[in-house]
Amino acid sequence: MLLLGSHVGFKKDSQLLGSLKEALSYGANTFMFYTGAPQNTSRYPILNELTLEAISLMKEKGFDYSKVVVHAPYIINLANDKDLDKFMFSVRFLQEELERCELLGIHYLVLHPGSHVGLGIDTAIFNISKGLNMILGTHDVTVLLETMSGKGTEIGSSLVEIKRIIDLVDDKNHIGVCLDTCHLNDAGYDMKDFDSFLNQFDTLIGIDKIGCVHINDSKNILNSHKDRHENIGFGTMGFDILISIVYNERLKDIPKILETPYVDKKYAPYRYEIEMLKNKKFDSNLIEKIRKYGSDIQ
Ligand code: FE
Ligand code: FE
Ligand code: ZN
Repeated sequence: MLLLGSHVGFKKDSQLLGSLKEALSYGANTFMFYTGAPQNTSRYPILNELTLEAISLMKEKGFDYSKVVVHAPYIINLANDKDLDKFMFSVRFLQEELERCELLGIHYLVLHPGSHVGLGIDTAIFNISKGLNMILGTHDVTVLLETMSGKGTEIGSSLVEIKRIIDLVDDKNHIGVCLDTCHLNDAGYDMKDFDSFLNQFDTLIGIDKIGCVHINDSKNILNSHKDRHENIGFGTMGFDILISIVYNERLKDIPKILETPYVDKKYAPYRYEIEMLKNKKFDSNLIEKIRKYGSDIQ
């Protein structure tokens, strides 16, 4: 079944129930959320009543809740152990994030591998796996390492780097990969022939390790190492390539999550983009339509 959704908010007062209602308002049948603001690590306690209410609403709506994913905040960096306190802060935060996932009934946590900030790739890969080995297996949550664009000193812009981290992780049952189409493009992987990319992935890492796919167009060209997402069909990748990824048979049951930019920083585009992807037909007036009608939740 096609599982198509977007990232959604997670608010102090509505929590998982609010996230679910936002996803439903976009016509999504899956979603991804941060357990608080993506750019910081302040987090509110999870309220069980809201979680239970959300789970029963998901049952009612036929959601496959086992595939909903959480994204860890960007500022967590397991690659850097120059400052041991900071490194241990990242490890502890991730540990708490696994606990929050478990409380929320979530089984997948997307994580940016990190940036080596001058330490070099080998040290960074060692540090990331060391951090992961401290927390994996303590909860029934799988960490999905996201493929990155290679901006700055980011680790994970090549499949070989991702593979090297996984090789060093002890608990292979709780580690996987999240593909991000914009990041892959910006990292230099040509998505035009997605099947040959998947073959390469399968040989190196194994397709069964893919737990989530972020569907984003890119504002920049192949190999630009930039990481700026664009609305579906309006970037350098284009609609047809993204359709070939969304509907690829080999990733049939994997959740596809949009992280495309808001229009004029105001209107969430997801209701429109999800509909367009379902119709399999590019609408060049989409942005104008969103400007005109907005994206009112509900
Ligand atoms: Fe991400
Ligand atoms: Fe992403
Ligand atoms: Zn990105």
